[in-house]
Amino acid sequence: MNLFLKNYKIVLLISTFFMSCNTQQEVTVSKTTSNEVSTSSKKVKNIILLIGDGMGLSQVSASQFYNKKTSNFERFPVIGLSKTSSASELITDSAAGATAFASGIKTYNGALGVNTDTLAVKTIVEEISKIGISTGIISTSSIVHATPAAFYTHTKKRSMYEDIATQLVNSDIDFFAGGGIKYFNDRKDKRDLILELEQKGFSVNTQSLPMNTKPVFNKKQGYLLASNGMPKMLDGRGEFLTNATKLALESLSSNEEGFFLMIEGSQIDWGGHDNDAEYLISELIDFDNTIGIALDFAELDGETLVIVTADHETGGFTLAQDNGDYNKIKPVFSTGGHSATMVPVFAKGPNAIDFGGIYENTSIYNKMKSFFFENNNN
Ligand code: MG
Ligand code: ZN
Repeated sequence: MNLFLKNYKIVLLISTFFMSCNTQQEVTVSKTTSNEVSTSSKKVKNIILLIGDGMGLSQVSASQFYNKKTSNFERFPVIGLSKTSSASELITDSAAGATAFASGIKTYNGALGVNTDTLAVKTIVEEISKIGISTGIISTSSIVHATPAAFYTHTKKRSMYEDIATQLVNSDIDFFAGGGIKYFNDRKDKRDLILELEQKGFSVNTQSLPMNTKPVFNKKQGYLLASNGMPKMLDGRGEFLTNATKLALESLSSNEEGFFLMIEGSQIDWGGHDNDAEYLISELIDFDNTIGIALDFAELDGETLVIVTADHETGGFTLAQDNGDYNKIKPVFSTGGHSATMVPVFAKGPNAIDFGGIYENTSIYNKMKSFFFENNNN
């Protein structure tokens, strides 16, 4: 509180200075604390990493024009830019992109948790589980799809879905929610991985999120709610992502040692691949709402760092003028694939300031890991 007052005085002094210089620039003194850069000396106990797959700056900007509510992206005090190229290509895919966040290495497109020699590299989930931190993953794709899978698997090829599902059973993940039932119970090898998950101490639900009953904190939880990917927002997915996020936060935060939660808005990417602006924007708004849940939790908690970023941009998406009419936006795409453009990184909470600037996607892993281990050594 004292620190905040001190900052407030500095802002006042600066604005007085500007006014006395009689500049035309209007200087306003913000009274809000909500997007102040945190000056508290609190350490990072928990990290919520939200990945908008394929979410470039135009996608984020869409929240400003197509969302009736004020965008939650505006609540972040610190913004940086991430360079997304993989080891093999200038333009990354989601597997190499997520491996950069999960393991801190640049690898080839299609690789999950392995380096360019196809050798396994440690994931942040494996590292922090050893020091007692709980971990969770939520995705609107199947849970074995590239982005969530990078956090628990070591696989040469992202398309090896049944193999990836087997690795989830043996991973350190404590909470997961997404689609992909068929990779667990309709397999070539006839194994019943749902049963195997239960034998590993999971409570598995393939019907719905238990929103009205209290989650069982002493059990690991798995929610597989679609055969493959979850339905589109446009096809009635409803509040899956926001509700799964609430449930995960309620469960994981019961661990006094802290938690790491990765939440993916997978289908922002799929709307981009389809060059379907309505699909893309509906997924983006759902992701925006989910960011709101994460920020509400973090603001109350005070020891939670929230990071929002993307693995890459998809679609070469732009909010263009419409036939000379500058008062009308026409969403357009320049590719059916990914693009090389840098993607934004938003941060709020303890150490958020470290996310300003331009850096490689791998440094997001480096920062997250150092915060968890710094905290643990004290
Ligand atoms: Mg993805
Ligand atoms: Zn993609």
